[in-house]
Amino acid sequence: MPEFQNILDNIYIEAKKTVDKGEIASYIPQLACVDINNFGIALFDKNGMLHSSGNTQERFSIQSISKVLSLSLAFNLLGEKLWERVGVEPSGDPFNHLSLLEQENGKPRNPLINAGAIVVADILVSHLKNPKEELLQYVRKIANDNSIDYDKDVAKSEKETGFRNYAAAYLIKSYGNLENDVETVLDFYFHQCSLSMSCEQLASTFYVFANRGKCLKQTQHLNLSQIKRINAIMLSCGFYDEAGEFAYEVGLPGKSGVGGGIVAVLPDNFSVATWSPGLNEKGNSKLGLQALEKLTTESGLSIF
Ligand code: GLU
Repeated sequence: MPEFQNILDNIYIEAKKTVDKGEIASYIPQLACVDINNFGIALFDKNGMLHSSGNTQERFSIQSISKVLSLSLAFNLLGEKLWERVGVEPSGDPFNHLSLLEQENGKPRNPLINAGAIVVADILVSHLKNPKEELLQYVRKIANDNSIDYDKDVAKSEKETGFRNYAAAYLIKSYGNLENDVETVLDFYFHQCSLSMSCEQLASTFYVFANRGKCLKQTQHLNLSQIKRINAIMLSCGFYDEAGEFAYEVGLPGKSGVGGGIVAVLPDNFSVATWSPGLNEKGNSKLGLQALEKLTTESGLSIF
């Protein structure tokens, strides 16, 4: 096994020296309150051992990373029927674009862009008695951590400024692909995006995607076929219109969020999470991308 701890420590030193850390997302005002100098990287190896460097215990807003978790829950509930409502093709568009939605009659390209995640949120609202509580319990179970929670201030802040998400939801509704009312669905969606987790908690949660559906406690949460499909969607759709670049530079399935977090997995090998709140122009964490490129290059481990 590679010397993960050494690699992570070098990544941390390099990140601390980097002057251009990107820009913090401010379109959700509450996200702008975070210190841009935060940097953390945490990795669980195939033996379930934790390696970490930097600020890996402070919680931050996981934002779009949550879309993988809501997708997993919806996939468990609906199986392949899910794909009647949302596709599995990369969009090549920014996360909040509306143009394709109109061209494709309200069926979002994939579940990891906002429009797709809003349809997944609608499915969960229809199928669960208490959707916010049940999603939270699901995430806590996979993470083996009951302290994980929503950040109500972030959810409220996004609700006040989430105009594009309202536009997307109404457009989807106009095509008949939203069963519930827009307010209820977006309230759920804004809460899922506000989930607050540290790098260690994220790496622990995503271990399930590296470990054939089993969490760190070896409990089976998803079957092999579901894991194959969700990892494929992360690889092709996990980084907005930069998914090709991420595959090229890093070579792992993963997902980013505008809170500056990135998770990635190497099946049968490791799960990793980084946090650096500064984003590049495509909305992905600038130092997080550099860190993961270094990790796969120096360890010689990627899916390729
Ligand atoms: N809650 C954010 C939004 O809907 C998620 C964006 C992201 O992390 O990509 O705009």
